[in-house]
Amino acid sequence: MSWFVRSTSPDQASELLRDALDDALAHLQASSDEPPVRLVRLRERLTRPPVPSGLRREVQAVLAQMAVDAMVDGEDDTPAAVAEMASAFVNALDASALLDLELVSEISELEGQVPTRVGRGDARRLAREAERIRDVALPARERAQRTRREVQRLVQELAHELAPGLRQATSLDWGLSELSTSLASASEPAAMATVRETLGEQLRTLAKSSAAVRVRMSRALEHTRALQAELDDAHERIAELEAQSERDALTGLYDRGAFDRRLLEAVSSRDGERASDAHELCLVMIDIDHFKQINDTYGHPVGDEVLREVADTIGQVVRGDDVVGRVGGEEFAILLKDVSQDGAFEVVERIRIAVEGRRHHGDAEGLHVTLSAGLAVHAGTENALALYKRADRALYAAKEQGRNRCVLAA
Ligand code: GH3
Ligand code: MG
Ligand code: MG
Repeated sequence: MSWFVRSTSPDQASELLRDALDDALAHLQASSDEPPVRLVRLRERLTRPPVPSGLRREVQAVLAQMAVDAMVDGEDDTPAAVAEMASAFVNALDASALLDLELVSEISELEGQVPTRVGRGDARRLAREAERIRDVALPARERAQRTRREVQRLVQELAHELAPGLRQATSLDWGLSELSTSLASASEPAAMATVRETLGEQLRTLAKSSAAVRVRMSRALEHTRALQAELDDAHERIAELEAQSERDALTGLYDRGAFDRRLLEAVSSRDGERASDAHELCLVMIDIDHFKQINDTYGHPVGDEVLREVADTIGQVVRGDDVVGRVGGEEFAILLKDVSQDGAFEVVERIRIAVEGRRHHGDAEGLHVTLSAGLAVHAGTENALALYKRADRALYAAKEQGRNRCVLAA
């Protein structure tokens, strides 16, 4: 009886080893010797080979390919974390395959040392060799177990990563957990085949799920866009309301507070600088003449209409960056920027003449509206209040001098 024990296939090696042990045991029984307990145990273990068969490596290759496919299918839509996880998964499988290869070569080496003839002494040597095989196989098995646990952890992480936002999350999560459990315990080729099938199914579910994730993400994106649009509208509305809150309801001009803020700003921004003649800052105060009488004669609605007409006339004459406010009942204020004193005076005159020349004020027959104005040119370090007072005094002087005129402040 002679055997050829060097083999390239672990299956074949295991089979030959089993045959050798059977022969050895038969030989020992025939010579009515007690077979060594270790030899019997080793024989028992060899019914389930410690080294997984070539099928296991094949299964691993298939699993790795599936993981790669899943990664590729996702393309750029696959969240980076999932892609990372899939590649870690592949790496873990590779590592596991490497361990198997190591184990195979170690076993083959040991097999090479198994004697070609079995006698009583041979049987003892065989028992020692079998023990050495076990010594190598056990730590390798532990390493394989660790790798399996690592794969199990990765599968769980993968499930965890994909779970949020998936309708099939629970079943997928559950399926993958179950799969990782069976992966941890599977050592038989048949069990591994089942794991492979299950993993295939799970990966297909995963592909569907990742499509679901994409749909969900694009919905979330749409939702975000809608919210952003709403937010923009709200901001616009707030800006509108803020702008409105500074306006006088009847004329749409700045109210007293808003006008004052702009006057203060304009005065302080000059910071004591002496402006050149063409770039003066001028404050004009306007008051409608005998407005009480207009109200009394034609009624308040006509008075209101007159206020609107004067506001419109001022708006038509001044420039865009000039500031116009209704600062009292029938009082208006204008802040003219970058203008000469003569230029400012001319602006006020144009307003005054336009109002005076207007013949129709709604259906109020024979109504003639005039206004008086005071004009002050901002002087050096003068503050806003001082400028205001000078313009107001000039207005008072215009009233004193007979109304319907503009007086330049001293
Ligand atoms: P003067 O030429 O000296 O300015 O005489 P006046 O009548 O214009 O001045 P006075 O201050 O005596 O009267 C201002 C009037 O303006 C009194 C008030 O009833 C009226 N008035 C104030 N606010 C409004 C308003 O919003 N609408 C209307 N229709 N009248 C207003
Ligand atoms: Mg007045
Ligand atoms: Mg008046």
